[in-house]
Amino acid sequence: MLREKNLLSIIVPVFNEEESITETVRRLLALRDKLSQEVDVELVFVDDGSKDRSLSLLRSIAEQTVCVKIISFSRNFGHQIAITAGIDLAAGDYVAVIDADLQDPPELIADMYRMALTGFDVIYGKRRSRAGETVFKKATAAAFYRLLNYMCEIDIPSDTGDFRLMSRKVVEAFKQLRERHRFVRGMVPWLGYKAAPLEYDRAERFAGETKYPFRKMLAFATNAILSFSSKPLTLAIRLGFLTIFTGISGGIYMLYLKLFMNTPIPGLTAVLLSIVVFSGVQILLIGVVGEYIARIFEEIKGRPLYLVAETINI
Ligand code: UDP
Ligand code: MG
Repeated sequence: MLREKNLLSIIVPVFNEEESITETVRRLLALRDKLSQEVDVELVFVDDGSKDRSLSLLRSIAEQTVCVKIISFSRNFGHQIAITAGIDLAAGDYVAVIDADLQDPPELIADMYRMALTGFDVIYGKRRSRAGETVFKKATAAAFYRLLNYMCEIDIPSDTGDFRLMSRKVVEAFKQLRERHRFVRGMVPWLGYKAAPLEYDRAERFAGETKYPFRKMLAFATNAILSFSSKPLTLAIRLGFLTIFTGISGGIYMLYLKLFMNTPIPGLTAVLLSIVVFSGVQILLIGVVGEYIARIFEEIKGRPLYLVAETINI
């Protein structure tokens, strides 16, 4: 008897991508045709509360093509949550995630799939180069990954994004992680399993502009560190010890000056200055602790990660 063909789900988070979405669907359907001998393919589009025509464009495609499936959110929940929803609902034996803006070439999913069949559970895209991105974005990204790897116990490969393919085993494991502040590209390495990179050159955005302006990028980076590591708290304690040590050594030195050198102790300015500086340090550290408490608060509410307004072909 013939073994049944595998199913490959391709998840695409979509937020205001009306300019690229039609081309993205076209490229993905072409990939599906190309792979039709080897594996069945379903496309799962997660509309993350788009305010433009993205959803209606997708809907009209889905009406004619059953392998195009849509989950649409009740509002914008964010890229990482959109990916999560796709992973939750995808039925495939293998599940790939790709952005809607064609920065990651869809055709590579075929290579990822073939590589996975040779005995890997995760194949992640590793950017050899990134076209059309500013020097600033590249530099901040590099600094961010360095900092992240310093802060976290697990190894998060640098130059990777969310472009990856996972086996069902990994998908089932991933589905058990229900934390609210999600950093998918760190969560998957945390799961472990056998992973391998696939190097590629990242293209420019097909159309439209990035949905990650600097402000969002900063939030994304902060979130990654705070949700993956408690090292900031450890660093806070170290800073505390350092401060105490500085204070005590300063005190001893002053005592020495007074008792043995008969020098008058320098006055008010130094006192004021140190009060100001160390109040600053204290406020900052309370803020760090506060960030963790805010996360506990968010988590403890136990709200659903996302709300689905509509599903099509699922
Ligand atoms: N995206 C999303 N929700 C958001 C922001 C972005 O689903 O709140 C999607 C977006 O449509 C794209 C992907 O996430 O498919 C990556 O976004 P973008 O290309 O803007 O990020 P960049 O590549 O610039 O880092
Ligand atoms: Mg992009």
